[in-house]
Amino acid sequence: MQSVYDLHAHTTASDGTLTPTALVETAVRCGIQVLAVTDHDITAGLAEAQDAATQRGVGLVPGIEISVTWAHQTIHIVGLQIDPDCRVLQEGLAKLHAFRVWRAEEIARRLEKARIPGSLDAAKSYAGGKIISRTHFARFLVAQGYAKDMKQVFKRYLVRNKPGYVPGEWADLEEALQWIHQAGGLAVLAHPARYPLSGQRLRQLLTAFREAGGVGLEVVSGSHSQGDILRFAELAAHYGFYASRGSDYHGPENAYADPAYLPALPPQCRPIWTHAQWADCTAT
Ligand code: AMP
Ligand code: MN
Ligand code: MN
Ligand code: MN
Repeated sequence: MQSVYDLHAHTTASDGTLTPTALVETAVRCGIQVLAVTDHDITAGLAEAQDAATQRGVGLVPGIEISVTWAHQTIHIVGLQIDPDCRVLQEGLAKLHAFRVWRAEEIARRLEKARIPGSLDAAKSYAGGKIISRTHFARFLVAQGYAKDMKQVFKRYLVRNKPGYVPGEWADLEEALQWIHQAGGLAVLAHPARYPLSGQRLRQLLTAFREAGGVGLEVVSGSHSQGDILRFAELAAHYGFYASRGSDYHGPENAYADPAYLPALPPQCRPIWTHAQWADCTAT
């Protein structure tokens, strides 16, 4: 029997609300047998996740979700089976952490101008000292009553043309893939249906990603509709990508799919876990 894979999930090391241990426990309850922990631009949750997974008898794939700027758009690249001790990877991530610190200060300055004081300290305390994300600002704004939920708060404050928006200056596509490759990992384009790209732009992205050594497309994502899944299954076949499956779970408070309800990969897909370089990480 094939294992049940969830290859995209977040912990409190980035903007999830579950600790690595609690995330692993939730995944087990949801029937997941191989889980990838893929925090935004940070690997700090992996050691605890590995311990918890070993104890509970599930497979743990060490991963990362790297923020990339491509053609003025923020794109997310998931790295699977990375070695978190890789120096090139950590030096690269350190640049993204520095940008996140500056951006958080800038978001707070802009919100202050919009007569919303105190957001930096609050966001930092939601972040708990790891990386600081827009999600942490969003939680503060919702708690203060500036918007009713996470969806509304992003729409009104944290996206382009809104008071708390600061354009991303993340990694180049090519460098992000180099970091992943140096760390021994496989690069997967995360939630491809989420980017506001024209069909032509999307094809350019897929081509550039493949040229840089990308091998996988997240065909099934917690944020994909059935239509998205079929469309990206076809694109994966057309471009020769392996297909990945990941919930993008951020914890029970968030509007992301619970891993238990994630659809299976369509049968025509070649799963990323059948890639020649995939190491079996199923717990024994
Ligand atoms: P950042 O990497 O700091 O810019 O934050 C991006 C994160 O914000 C994403 O990974 C999501 O977790 C979250 N996010 C972005 N857009 C939304 C939205 N519309 N609703 C809820 N969460 C969102
Ligand atoms: Mn996130
Ligand atoms: Mn993402
Ligand atoms: Mn994610």
